[in-house]
Amino acid sequence: MLRKSGILGYPLGHSISPYFQNAAFEFLGIKASYKAWSTEPKDLSDKVNALRGTSFMGANVTIPFKEAVIELLDEMDDWAKRVGSVNTIVNDSGTLVGYNTDTVGFIQAISEYGNYDPSGEAVLLIGAGGAARAAAHALVGNKVGSLVIANRTYHRAERLASEFPAKDKVSPVLLNGPGFLKAVDSASLIINSTSIGMKHTSVENCNPLEGISVKAGVLVNDMVYNPLKTPMLIHAAETGAKILTGLPMLVLQGAASFNLWTGRDAPVDVMFLAAQEALAD
Ligand code: NAP
Repeated sequence: MLRKSGILGYPLGHSISPYFQNAAFEFLGIKASYKAWSTEPKDLSDKVNALRGTSFMGANVTIPFKEAVIELLDEMDDWAKRVGSVNTIVNDSGTLVGYNTDTVGFIQAISEYGNYDPSGEAVLLIGAGGAARAAAHALVGNKVGSLVIANRTYHRAERLASEFPAKDKVSPVLLNGPGFLKAVDSASLIINSTSIGMKHTSVENCNPLEGISVKAGVLVNDMVYNPLKTPMLIHAAETGAKILTGLPMLVLQGAASFNLWTGRDAPVDVMFLAAQEALAD
């Protein structure tokens, strides 16, 4: 039997997940498919319930359903509970279990591809949406020394920071407001988790660190992966920083989903290559 998986989102745009997930199935000789399931909000409940069928392994979940999907599931793993959002559903013999693999994907990306250990370090996270929430919980869970969350809409940064007790030293600032420059200056890791810099959007050529010099040796990570070298990364490299694109996180969160669905070790190198080819198209 062909086992099915896919990604639920709306609108889906040009997701590259099908390219690297199908490449992984093919490489390991697993009879399975991964499709882009563009799903209107009114159809979400039916689509999720259908995943209980024997032919379905599960699904990835993206904007705007990562939170809405929770009430349709039977169980959640610890990271999904902590973050309050689900990006992976596993069909365990008719029981739907929600996971958040953005957390592990992000931590693995900065550690294995950025050679960075957040333990005891000062980190600046730009953005306060879903991706920021996963990164913030993953960083605190990995003993970050202090975390500043900078966002255009201050109250969202404030709300995310307030999820953590004072001992975790998580504080909000307004993006480009008082405190932002100081946070850039103190951080050993700066992450963009906003959509600034994303191709085919009104903020395509923008850079959240515009006009700001980043110290040499600081790691700058953009979660945006299309284009791979965003204006922020180009700027950061010019000022002497180390840079990490959004692709490792994307592939590694997908590899973690693959492991959960198949019980096999995802062929990460094969997935990387397929993702790079898809982006080059
Ligand atoms: P989201 O929940 O909609 O959050 C969007 C964030 O971007 C908010 O902080 C928002 O600020 C900010 N923002 C949007 N437009 C802005 C602008 N013009 N100026 C300043 N801030 C702006 O989205 P998300 O799920 O967190 O995703 C955010 C980005 O991360 C997307 O580009 C997504 O592709 C990427 N991502 C990558 C991975 C990966 O694996 N590499 C995983 C997840 C997400 P306000 O609160 O002020 O609106």
